[in-house]
Amino acid sequence: MTIAANLAKLQERIAAAARAANRAPETVALIAVSKTQPMQAVQEAYAAGQRLFGENRVQEADGKFTPLRASCPDLQLQLIGPLQTNKAARAVSLFDSIATLDRHKLATTLAALYARQTNRPELLAEINSGHEPQKAGIAPEALPDFLAQCRDLALPVRGLMCIPPVDSDPAPHFMALTRMADTHQLLIRSMGMSGDFETAIRCGSTHVRIGTALFGSRTTPV
Ligand SMILES: *Cc1c(COP(=O)(O)O)cnc(C)c1O
Repeated sequence: MTIAANLAKLQERIAAAARAANRAPETVALIAVSKTQPMQAVQEAYAAGQRLFGENRVQEADGKFTPLRASCPDLQLQLIGPLQTNKAARAVSLFDSIATLDRHKLATTLAALYARQTNRPELLAEINSGHEPQKAGIAPEALPDFLAQCRDLALPVRGLMCIPPVDSDPAPHFMALTRMADTHQLLIRSMGMSGDFETAIRCGSTHVRIGTALFGSRTTPV
């Protein structure tokens, strides 16, 4: 299967899942997760009409997407991996959105950068919905305080993102994220990957992040 064919099939599945949930298909955006994939794979997806891409490492994204920006001006790039504060400045100039705002220190660093930069990526707070100690993210019960801190820093947070625990039913995590987003009037709900995006759409996802179902399996470890 070509990337273009995979993309067409995914768009059909996304639209079908949206309609099954009584939602308009255009309320769900597809983020093509191109981590570990070569630049040609991104170009193929772009040629097939894909505009929104996700990368999990600042350096890899820089090497792959900075050369593409000139020929693909309407391309949108989101950071979906953890962001170290020493890479925050680079990330702010490289990405259109950052989905992994996961701690107060990062919020402080980003706020300082946003105060003196014109490029201000849209921000999503990452929620550690399964309270997994090895995983980044804000604990659900800490979200109200975290959002208040971001407001105090004049840092706009537009939505929430989560990666549910592997080997557990993701639906309760997705539902919880939707409830939290509703409570705080956050419009973006980024949830769902290759294996569970239809469930995520049923639970209210606005952005599904899909890698392997679009590009095939990743040959190098992440
Ligand atoms: C890799 C990754 C994805 C995509 O995963 P697939 O299972 O390949 O679709 C989505 N979200 C995040 C945060 C990722 O790191």
